[in-house]
Amino acid sequence: MVKEKVLVTSALPYANGPIHLGHLSGAYLPADIYVRYKRLNGDDIIYICGSDEHGAAITISAEKEKVSPQVIIDRFHEANKKAFERFGMSFDNYSRTSLPIHHETARDFFLEFYNRGIFVEKKSLQFYDNEANIFLPDRYVEGTCPKCGNEEARSDECENCGSLYDPSELKNPKSKISGTTPALKETWHYYFPLGKYQPALEKYVDEMNEKYGWKSNVLNYCRGWFKDRLNDRAITRDLDWGIKVPVDSAIGKVIFVWFEAVLGYISSTKDLSLQKNQPELWKKYWQDPKTKYVAFIGKDNVVFHTIIFPAILMAWNEGGKEQYCLPQNVPANEFLNFEGKKFSKSRNWGIDVDDFLNIFEPDLLRYTLAANLPETRDTDFYWKEFQLRNNSELADILGNFINRTFTFVFKHFDGKVPALGKLEKIDEDMMKEISGYPKRVAEFFEKYKIRDGVNEIMNLARDGNKYFNDSEPWKTVKSDKARCGTTLNICLQTIYTLGELFSPVLPFSMEKLFVMLNSKPVKWESCGDTNLKESHQLNQAEILFPKIEDAIIENQINKLGNTKLEEVKKESLISYDDFMKTQLRVAEVVEAEKVVKSEKLLKLKVKLGDEERQVVAGIAKSYEPENLIGKKVVIVANLQPVKLMGLESQGMILAVETESGELQILNVSDLVKNGTRVK
Ligand SMILES: [Zn+2]
Repeated sequence: MVKEKVLVTSALPYANGPIHLGHLSGAYLPADIYVRYKRLNGDDIIYICGSDEHGAAITISAEKEKVSPQVIIDRFHEANKKAFERFGMSFDNYSRTSLPIHHETARDFFLEFYNRGIFVEKKSLQFYDNEANIFLPDRYVEGTCPKCGNEEARSDECENCGSLYDPSELKNPKSKISGTTPALKETWHYYFPLGKYQPALEKYVDEMNEKYGWKSNVLNYCRGWFKDRLNDRAITRDLDWGIKVPVDSAIGKVIFVWFEAVLGYISSTKDLSLQKNQPELWKKYWQDPKTKYVAFIGKDNVVFHTIIFPAILMAWNEGGKEQYCLPQNVPANEFLNFEGKKFSKSRNWGIDVDDFLNIFEPDLLRYTLAANLPETRDTDFYWKEFQLRNNSELADILGNFINRTFTFVFKHFDGKVPALGKLEKIDEDMMKEISGYPKRVAEFFEKYKIRDGVNEIMNLARDGNKYFNDSEPWKTVKSDKARCGTTLNICLQTIYTLGELFSPVLPFSMEKLFVMLNSKPVKWESCGDTNLKESHQLNQAEILFPKIEDAIIENQINKLGNTKLEEVKKESLISYDDFMKTQLRVAEVVEAEKVVKSEKLLKLKVKLGDEERQVVAGIAKSYEPENLIGKKVVIVANLQPVKLMGLESQGMILAVETESGELQILNVSDLVKNGTRVK
């Protein structure tokens, strides 16, 4: 069999939040299983990833916390790197785009295109916050998507439907900094002429699909974009945080993150080469036409990997210098939801990888996710299914088969592999069955049908149990010990094959299994052969998959949607003195009216003792103004005044949001005097 040279990348996670199970199911676990399988198959493969550390979302988080963007990226880069390690991700390198090697790589590409006159310089209208006096990049503006109506769309991109559009098309735009409606103001940017590459991109996608069979969801996304025609795309941004545009006249501009983040795959490979003291190693993968490049991503990233990144590499290759490989396949997954809903940090819906792994072994999560990957449609993680897959598949089918075989061999054959002996038809059939698995599973994995491959492997454990039962070794051990030995020999060979086939999926448990077998994996294609010799000494078995009790699962289900005090992280605790800095006071509403042109805001006049204040509150969807008059409410009295829709607000009214999204003001009895402090 001809071995391949393979380059695998997984989407660079954004260093602005923790990894959750949905991410793992999309771009990471399937890639890791594929990579681990390819390594056992003897292919020459490297697996590249890292943190994406630029862009406006990071600066927004930094401003919210009043820290530098560096603090945010350091925190999430380290946390995500560690979470991936605990989950068993076997990256050859997990780099970060804040490294000098990445900045250098991005600047090289930029300057190459700039010097060749590829970019178009264009004036454009961009959202500008008149209160904060800054241009608002994509993520600083939120509004309604012109294509699908999603109300949390960004200025030029909708995460819900994946559309890209011009900022002027966004409906109801709002600045995330001041909450006001931003104005469109003129600026200039360099643009990458994506439209010019459309014919070449269409040809590329068709050719790759013909040769390597792209997934239909990926093809449909691509064809949708081609149908809408590709446009020039701004490649610079007015922003502080990021890679400075290496052109003197471009003051205050950085390279747009969509252009440089995908180059992070290349710079991460360069980073690996430097670590290995082989500075040219990266070229062996990126610039060899024999390389098979596979880019694993989630569906929200399709356009960047099937259109934008290939276009950037095509543009470079046209220059006639080194030639980069384009992705040969982009097996994008759909989304994983959690118990029927989208993951949401703010609603406490879902679980972080770290929290999960504090309670359960990583292999249990890997198996549950792998057996239910969203390869063709969105799927869900359910706690009950997690328990069921562990208890009835890992424990009852795989674990039980291993355990009963080892118990028998230790009890009756001193823990040594019995002789294969004389084969009957049932034995020959089973051996033939075992030997068919490695090739069949490989065929699934080679087509990126990871879920089907994983479910197929579990069938071998089912076959093993059936063979054990049909052969009745508990009877033959008394009547015909050699016959019993034959059965157990074949059961052990089955376990060996299972150990190897499951290694990419359950790396931690299968490592333990190979210790029990006192053996090591062989080349993938040989793992269905007779690999354990007669009299080979085994090690004592341990239980690989204990059952999960109902109470543990119930506990997790009960936690969903609640944010309990005990879960408030220690570092976010404040002292009594800190709390007392906040002046909460009782106030009486004396006037209330709607703010013109705003759906959300009410303008209130409240009395605090003798003092009267104007407060603008976002409660118009939940309260009619007239119903508020005379109500006693709690306000934050020493909050810095802010302007909302041009109106000054001198305080904030405390309210809670119900599950249906309705706001309820905290009420105080009429007997309490205005101005009374709440503490
Ligand atoms: Zn949309």
